[in-house]
Amino acid sequence: MMKKGCPYGTHRVISPKGVLPQPADVIDNTMELYDNEVLIDVKTLNIDSASFTEIEKRAGGDIEEIKNIMKGIVEKAGKHKNPWTGSGGMLIGTVKEVGPAYQGDLKAGDKIATLVSLSLTPLVIQEIHDVRPDIDQVDITGQAILFQSGIYAKLPDDMPEGLALSALDVAGAPAQTAKLVKPGDTVVIIGGGGKSGLLCLYEAKKRAGVTGKVICVGGSPKSTERARKLDLADEYFAFDATDAVGLYNRIMELTGGQLADIVINCVNIENTEMASILACKDGGTVYFFSMATSFTKAALGAEGVGKDVNMIVGNGYTKGHAEITLQVLRECEPLRRLFAEMYA
Ligand code: NAP
Repeated sequence: MMKKGCPYGTHRVISPKGVLPQPADVIDNTMELYDNEVLIDVKTLNIDSASFTEIEKRAGGDIEEIKNIMKGIVEKAGKHKNPWTGSGGMLIGTVKEVGPAYQGDLKAGDKIATLVSLSLTPLVIQEIHDVRPDIDQVDITGQAILFQSGIYAKLPDDMPEGLALSALDVAGAPAQTAKLVKPGDTVVIIGGGGKSGLLCLYEAKKRAGVTGKVICVGGSPKSTERARKLDLADEYFAFDATDAVGLYNRIMELTGGQLADIVINCVNIENTEMASILACKDGGTVYFFSMATSFTKAALGAEGVGKDVNMIVGNGYTKGHAEITLQVLRECEPLRRLFAEMYA
C-alpha cells in the first residue's frame, strides 16, 4: 500500500520540520513513490545561472570538481539547492511511473520539463556524464520526483529538447515582460544579451510597439553585439551594472531625462539592485528576475535614494509562461537560431 502524499510535498521534508520543501535544508529523496507523486528518469539538469556561476567559481573551473560539488549538494540536501545562492534550476526527463492518486495528464513515457525549481525537487544523481559549463547544463543518470502541485511542460515536438529546456528555464521572465510592458513604454533590460535578457527584449519590443523604446544593457561587448545582431531593441550598450550612478547617467541621456517605465534585471551577479532602481522613474516598475538580487539591498536602497518604484520579485511562474516562451522561439526565427546554436 503506497503512502499518502501532501500536494505540496511536505511529507518529504526532513528538516527543519514544518516548512515546505523549497526552504527546507534536507528532504527525503528515496525514490519510493507516494500515492500522488510522479517518478521521472532524469536526462539533463539545467542549473540556474546564478547557481552554476557560483559552483564553477568555487571549483576553479575544474569539471571534476564541479561534479563533486553538485553530487555533494544532492547527497546532503536530497535536492539540488545551491547552499550559497539558494537557487536550483530545472530538469528534463521521461516519466517512469505515476502514483494512483496523482491528478493530471501525465503517463509513463511522457517527455517533460519540470517547471518547479530543483531547489525543492527530490533528486538522486547516480552518475554525471557531461557538464556543459557554457550553457549550465549537466547530463546525468538519476531520478527525480514531481509533487502533485509541481508544474511541468510536455516537451514540444517542433524543437530540440535542449533548446526547449534552456528557454523554459527562464520562462517566467519573458512571460512577466509580456504582462508588464504597455504600448509606448520605455524599457531597460539589464543583462539583455543573456538567455532571459534576449527573450525579454523580444517581448518588450513587441509590447512597447513603435511608440515605445527598448534599451539593452549588456554585460560585455560580446553579449551586447549578440543582441544588436538580432535587432531586438532600439538602443544597445555594454555597461557594468554594479556601477549604479554610471548606468543612471547613461539612461538619463538616452531617455532625455525621463528614465524608464520598466526596468528588468536579468543579470547573474550580485550588487546590481541600485542600478536597476536608479534607472527607473518614480512610479515605474523594477522586475528583479535575477536570483542574485538581495531583497534587503533593493528595499533599503530604494528608500535610501527616495525612489517610489514598484519592485517585483522574480516569481519563476506566471500563468502561461511555458507557452509564451516557446511561442517567442517560434515567432522569432533569428532568436531561435541563436538559441539552437548556443544551447541546443
Ligand atoms: P545568463 O544567460 O548567464 O545572462 C546573464 C547576463 O548578465 C549575461 O548576459 C551577462 O553579460 C550579464 N551580466 C553579468 N555581469 C553583468 C554586469 N556587471 N553588468 C551588466 N550585465 C551583467 O543568465 P540567465 O539564464 O538569463 O539568468 C539570468 C538570471 O535569472 C540569473 O540570476 C538566474 O539565476 C535568474 N533566474 C531566475 C529565475 C526565476 O525564477 N526568477 C529562473 C531562472 C533564472 P555577459 O554575458 O556579457 O557577461
